[in-house]
Amino acid sequence: MKTIKVSVVTPDGPVYESDVEMVSTKAQSGELGILPGHIPMVAPLQIGAVRLKKEGNMEFIAVSGGFLEVRPDQVTILAQSAETASEIDVERALRAKERAEQRMREQKTAHIDFRRAELALQRAINRLAVSERRML
Ligand code: ATP
Repeated sequence: MKTIKVSVVTPDGPVYESDVEMVSTKAQSGELGILPGHIPMVAPLQIGAVRLKKEGNMEFIAVSGGFLEVRPDQVTILAQSAETASEIDVERALRAKERAEQRMREQKTAHIDFRRAELALQRAINRLAVSERRML
């Protein structure tokens, strides 16, 4: 089976590197699936799951936005933050979700703070989904 090398990198360092059969994720323009031999491209990502098909199994990584770059032999994901499913602290994500929901209830009038809370909520919900190996 043909494979492509995938690296997920954050400002704190590399999070994942492996040869996989397929990468799928949510670009800002919609669902994106990449197989070996895909044409080169760069796409901004949404907060979401990166799914990697490796030796027939699916692996999940939570990413909080960033960019995906496809080169002939390599996919690089540069993310603000990224965690593999097993690295996710579920209690922490639940606390972040609670906090964000509370802020959104309190700050309906302050637009900027509301948006910040909304993004924090999306990150938390995404982490909870990825920890259960499912998509948002
Ligand atoms: P929190 O409010 O819990 O910090 P956050 O969404 O504001 O959540 P980020 O700013 O996206 O957090 O991430 C900060 C760092 O903490 C990153 O390195 C990220 O990978 C890590 N991180 C955040 N939440 C979790 C989690 N639930 N489990 C594991 N790592 C996490």
